[in-house]
Amino acid sequence: MQKIAVIGSGTMGNGIAHVVAQYGYSVTLIDINEASLAKGLATIEKNLTRQVEKATITAAVKESALANIVTATSVKVGVDNADLVIEAATENETIKLSLFKEIDEYAPASAILASNTSSISITKIASATKRPEKVIGMHFMNPVPLMKLVEVIRGYSTSDETTTQVFELSKKLEKIPVEVNDYPGFVANRILMPMINEAIYSLYEGVAGVSEIDTVMKLGMAHPMGPLQLADFIGLDVCLSILQVLHSGFGNPKYAPCPLLVNMVQAGSKGVKTGQGFYQYTAGSKELRVADRFRK
Ligand code: NAD
Repeated sequence: MQKIAVIGSGTMGNGIAHVVAQYGYSVTLIDINEASLAKGLATIEKNLTRQVEKATITAAVKESALANIVTATSVKVGVDNADLVIEAATENETIKLSLFKEIDEYAPASAILASNTSSISITKIASATKRPEKVIGMHFMNPVPLMKLVEVIRGYSTSDETTTQVFELSKKLEKIPVEVNDYPGFVANRILMPMINEAIYSLYEGVAGVSEIDTVMKLGMAHPMGPLQLADFIGLDVCLSILQVLHSGFGNPKYAPCPLLVNMVQAGSKGVKTGQGFYQYTAGSKELRVADRFRK
């Protein structure tokens, strides 16, 4: 594998392009318009500069990583000579199914098609293509340059050869791949989201306040971040949509999203990205302040 196309230049896509380019691969970063691509590239440059300042990479590595990235606003142009396509577009099943149909049409027949989806079935995504044995989940964690895990999800038809190639690439990127099968939420979100949901239920039922719940999990369970802060960081809309996938996929009421989470998302309180969630966020401030609504 030498040429990698990354679709989507948002939070995850720019992180994936950054790491892949840093390790010497040629990257084509694809998004729907130049403005999104410019934002993605600016983030990559800022994060590479931070790595140089922390001496985790040299200035030469930064320059060669940036030189390894080209951009495109069309899937047709962007994937036409790719050995691997990693899709990291918006978490929406309709968008992903139509993207994979298009990628399948224009990527070389030998190319592996991977999705970074958090919760959408890899088997279903593969069904939009004529090469389901070459479709696989490559679930990177946020922030991609820092987090070691890649959850590698085998769809119903994913071949051993595809899985082996994705494992080898992940290791070359100095990540740790872990193989899992394609069931709702895979492993990471099947375990994480019920914990976050239970933390929200504990708040909703008045068992404890926001900082008390997070402190119990941080100091008691050695979690680096409490579940409510983590939910804000992931995005409350993202948490809700993953819980809905778990709930409908298993038909088990234990995954039903807490009504407080539903209300917060409907009210536009989606966590860090909107400035309001269980905590409130002010640009430039590192203070962790419980949102007024949840203050005693
Ligand atoms: P994001 O909203 O930050 O970025 C999505 C990007 O996709 C946007 O720039 C958008 O313009 C682009 N896009 C949408 N439709 C497109 C199309 N048809 N062609 C090309 N580009 C298109 O989203 P994100 O947080 O980076 O999430 C991307 C994927 O990664 C999702 O599947 C998500 O579930 C998954 N994921 C997210 C996280 C996280 O913490 N944010 C963690 C792991 C996995």
